[in-house]
Amino acid sequence: MKTLATTANHIIDLPSHALAALEVLESAGFEAWCVGGFIRDALLGRAGNDVDIACSAHWRQAQASFEAAGYRTHETGVAHGTLTVIIEGHPVEVTTYRCDGSYSDGRHPDEVSFVSTIDEDLARRDFTINAIAYHPIRGFVDEFDGLADLQTRVIRTVGDPKKRFAEDALRILRACRFKSQLGFSLDEETLSAMKSSKSMLRSVSIERVTHEIDLLLLGDHVHDALMETVDVLSFVLPELASMKGFDQRTPYHIYDVLEHTAWVIQHTPPERLVRWAALIHDMGKPAAAFEDGDVRHFYGHAHVSVDLGRALMTRFLMAPAFRDRVLTLVKYHDDVISPDARAVKRVLGRKLGGDADLFRSLCDLKRADALSQAPHCAPRAEVAQELKRVLDEILESKDAFSLRQLAVNGRDILSLGVEAGPRVGTILDAALEAVVEGDLPNEREALLAFAASQAQAGQQGAH
Ligand code: ATP
Ligand code: MG
Repeated sequence: MKTLATTANHIIDLPSHALAALEVLESAGFEAWCVGGFIRDALLGRAGNDVDIACSAHWRQAQASFEAAGYRTHETGVAHGTLTVIIEGHPVEVTTYRCDGSYSDGRHPDEVSFVSTIDEDLARRDFTINAIAYHPIRGFVDEFDGLADLQTRVIRTVGDPKKRFAEDALRILRACRFKSQLGFSLDEETLSAMKSSKSMLRSVSIERVTHEIDLLLLGDHVHDALMETVDVLSFVLPELASMKGFDQRTPYHIYDVLEHTAWVIQHTPPERLVRWAALIHDMGKPAAAFEDGDVRHFYGHAHVSVDLGRALMTRFLMAPAFRDRVLTLVKYHDDVISPDARAVKRVLGRKLGGDADLFRSLCDLKRADALSQAPHCAPRAEVAQELKRVLDEILESKDAFSLRQLAVNGRDILSLGVEAGPRVGTILDAALEAVVEGDLPNEREALLAFAASQAQAGQQGAH
């Protein structure tokens, strides 16, 4: 074991729940270390990762020790040697030293074998920066020079990348997402193996793929990650291949569709909804392109993007409600909305089902889109900010912009003698429109009179 004494630069202030976990295991006579993402992120000054402990205890022994010390445990991952312990409200994953057996399906280890040393346990981990163990008294175990790679900001597999990707192809996507989260460079041999091994991603379950793409999209360095790993990512996102190098040939754009998209994602806040919408918003451009001499037009591209995005998110098994919100943003991303109350209420009521949060995300997408085109388009980003201010004023004024807020409802319309059916909705829509346009107050009496006249007009129309 190559332990390194802790130096002033390398002291990790372990939180009390991590210290408590080490203490319980060691008092019971086992060896225990803090490992994985928590150590990596702590050394980078990034907070927030859950604590992982690797130890010499079998999970049953670990469980007995923690329960004797009064902590609750969950057996969620025990098939792979992982016990979850709740300490001071934090879940701590406690895993027996193990090495993974062979992966004949490139997906699950056929069996996990328990091993007796931390060195053997670190050897099965994916990247050197994830294979550092730390203990507050004994210091670091850094068999694979992860500390140096953290210093020089490199993502490198533990051992031969080809072999490691053949064991578990998910590691290829983990490398892409760590690049997006950390902004590190990919070691040359690792990147080249990612490319040559990408077809093994076929064996990875779609749920694991979706999880990694989700994390990649949320990364602080998503533009660079997408641009550098596009040839790998396009194995799971073939839509990216036609965006790469697709010249827009318009005065509004200086980037091809892929790089424009990468910048749009980068310029949106790190929220899942708007980042997925940014990924998809211009996916339809290559198919919708229309040549006009030296320039290209993309009329209707948003609809093509919606179709491609629906297929993609369905393939990725994403929740239908989330998918539909993403697609609503994609559909309207290019619509011009002037920053005045009437226009904003119209979009809110007619296009976004009254969902103010969705409107804010649409503004975020429009702002990022403007910032990622030619520099002369950047002032449009201001309009998107202005739209948010208009929205806030509308919300504060409590003005109606959706059917839910209207002072009459479907039952009121039926009570006027209108037959149940689509006519009820048409009358309510007309009433909302009159309120939004400022032609009617949102008051019951006035709206009932309006609805009655509409109902009558409808009846006359029918005769
Ligand atoms: P995060 O929690 O931010 O996703 P992490 O590095 O902690 O990042 P986890 O999935 O929580 O990732 O895994 C914890 C540790 O287990 C990793 O740091 C790594 O050492 C190891 N590990 C996880 N997945 C794999 C894998 N597919 N192959 C090899 N080692 C892995
Ligand atoms: Mg983790």
